[in-house]
Amino acid sequence: MPFSYSSPRLLMNRLRQLMAEGGKARDRLEKVVEMIAGTMVADVCSIYLRTTDDELELVATEGLRSEAVSTTRLRLDEGLVGHIARSARPLSIQDAPRHPDFSYRPETGEDPYHAFLGVPILRGGRVTGVLTVQNRTERVYDEDEIESLETIAMVLAEVIAAEMPRDSSAIAGVEVRPSRPVRLEGRILCEGLGMGRARLHDPVVPAAKFFAADPQSELKRLEEALDKLRDAVDRMLNAEGGELWGDPRDVLETYRLLADDPSWAERLSDGIRGGLSAEASIDRARREHRARLENARDPYLRERLHDLEDLDNRLLRILGGAEGHDPKQGETGAVLIARRLGPAEMLEYRTAGLAAILLEEAAASSHAAIVARALGIPSLGGLEDLTTLVEAGDKIVVDAEEGVVQLRPDNTILDAYKSRAIVRKQRQSAFRRLAKSPARTRDGIDVSLMLNAGLKLDLAHLPEIGADGIGLYRTEFQFLVAERLPRLEEQIELYREVISIVGDKPLQFRTFDLGGDKILPNLNRVREENPALGWRSVRFALDHKGLFRRQLRALIRASEGRPLTLMFPMVTTAGEFFEAKTLLHEELRWSEEQGFAGPSGLNVGAMLEVPAFAYALPAIAKEADFISIGTNDLMQFFFAADRMTPSVSDRYDMLSQPALDFLKQIADTCTRLNLQVSVCGEATGQPLEALALIALGYRRLSMPASGLGPVKRMIRSVKLTPFTEDFTARLAKSNGAFRNDLLALSREHGVLLTDG
Ligand code: PEP
Ligand code: MG
Repeated sequence: MPFSYSSPRLLMNRLRQLMAEGGKARDRLEKVVEMIAGTMVADVCSIYLRTTDDELELVATEGLRSEAVSTTRLRLDEGLVGHIARSARPLSIQDAPRHPDFSYRPETGEDPYHAFLGVPILRGGRVTGVLTVQNRTERVYDEDEIESLETIAMVLAEVIAAEMPRDSSAIAGVEVRPSRPVRLEGRILCEGLGMGRARLHDPVVPAAKFFAADPQSELKRLEEALDKLRDAVDRMLNAEGGELWGDPRDVLETYRLLADDPSWAERLSDGIRGGLSAEASIDRARREHRARLENARDPYLRERLHDLEDLDNRLLRILGGAEGHDPKQGETGAVLIARRLGPAEMLEYRTAGLAAILLEEAAASSHAAIVARALGIPSLGGLEDLTTLVEAGDKIVVDAEEGVVQLRPDNTILDAYKSRAIVRKQRQSAFRRLAKSPARTRDGIDVSLMLNAGLKLDLAHLPEIGADGIGLYRTEFQFLVAERLPRLEEQIELYREVISIVGDKPLQFRTFDLGGDKILPNLNRVREENPALGWRSVRFALDHKGLFRRQLRALIRASEGRPLTLMFPMVTTAGEFFEAKTLLHEELRWSEEQGFAGPSGLNVGAMLEVPAFAYALPAIAKEADFISIGTNDLMQFFFAADRMTPSVSDRYDMLSQPALDFLKQIADTCTRLNLQVSVCGEATGQPLEALALIALGYRRLSMPASGLGPVKRMIRSVKLTPFTEDFTARLAKSNGAFRNDLLALSREHGVLLTDG
């Protein structure tokens, strides 16, 4: 079956023309199969398209009986066609009827055909159909023929999607582009509501850029781009500083292996030799990787396919011939769709006026989540298969109050969204009105509410949200967002700015908390089995004294004549606290000797995030000015449940007797030792959790900006003394879960927890 067309480009153009000619969709597809069969010298050419109920319907054929069209339907687990759709890979067979998956359909009259070649029709990561050719004789299709049919299928996918109306009226029941409303559930990264049209983060190759006039120059472009990619990966691996991508080292090692893999490069070159542009050839590889990813269950294989897809995307960006990845361009009010997004990448979108962000990956406490919160953009993560279910321009409603996404919603959902958005706006302005009122309980007990921050962006709204100060400034974000180590001057500059924005209000800097999930690729070179329990936070700082002292120096220099409050993260033993404090004093002395005006006063604290440290408080009480409880880490260690692993991170509840008893014990110890204590961590921003904390005796809470309004409203509605009496009595009787008890108790006491 040698191909007789002189140029794939001509064939592609012919395809496009046929589809654009107008008339009934089926008629057009009939002409397409006729043309493919003719050019490929095949006895049969058929197109099967995926239906809304996930079957494959024969929509056009040249060679099989015409009565079979729209009658023959195969399930995804049925026949050779189903096999191809399932595996998302081509299948070439010398004698089809002998294949175990062959399913005989008498209505098609396919008995006399032996040789069979089928390829998936892929769009995004989705198999939208299958294209087959068959011949009477037993024969083996060669690599070039398979290659060519795949290329035709790719073009066909685009042409069908572009030319056939999205609604299923073109061919009843067939879905060429995702068009049905879909509801997805994800994890809330930043709370809020948003609506807009989908904008894809990963580069999209426009159909107009599919073909190249001159394969030789196209091959050269590809080769140059591949060289650049390999150089970039090598640079990354050797980097001690400089620009970083933010990927951990083992990922980069894999990238290097894959980028150097001749079969990947060869596959891309083959595409170009078959008439595609470099971009289209990469796009074809990306479709395959994505489609295989869809079907792969093995975690190792999935990771590798992810890596390959990342490389495809990087290569497309290097070529610059794709659209959709310039954060600074594009319509405002869009919903950004990405598989994953690093903090630096996300920050680039800050001026894009996004309505919402949706990610396939990302846990609620990831850096991307923290940046999303700083930007105040409603965001959800953990939305499996998102990128294959969404098309650019799709209408999307994002409910990041409940963790639900509605793709292509119908009018009822849109109306419901609109009324909720109005209510939310009213609620927000009610919270803003509260900003000037104190966080004082009905019986006159004041609670200090502070803000968790880590980016300058977080501070922008400080005056209007009514926080008493910054209870946790996560300094490592400057490192993570730049994806490199900031120089001394850069650190000084940032701290100066933060100090000047916060003014006279309290400001607690936390020294850098790197390691664990906060990885800098050229620093954390050791692969750890359990990074959360590993070489991180103050442990890491004490082993990188140069880096640590540089930061302490920057904090001292930035303070010039003002008090400096700082705390060390994740201290486990009293010894670690003393060692860190000694370094601080050495730096202070050094600054004095150099003649720098240091801080006017010093407050040094430690974060209590490891249960063992709760029992070291008496040992540090005389040396520490305060402690701050980081409930995110403390609870992950207390319950031995990784905060980054979705299947366990929400499994245990802080609102349970063991955790509350532990927190009570810490509060009592601090009172006894006269040690100032605050609580930071995400839990403080939830009204019910905050209620438990104040009932346990905590009076200083630091939280994300979104929690300030609701928590203040809760505090102003409670008469704390009688509430605490009941709370203590009920907790004493509890034998485990306490959330429902607390809810009941707050109802009895008329505490306002919910919105509105
Ligand atoms: C915590 O662990 O509660 C905390 C505030 O620190 P981070 O979330 O930055 O680890
Ligand atoms: Mg922590």
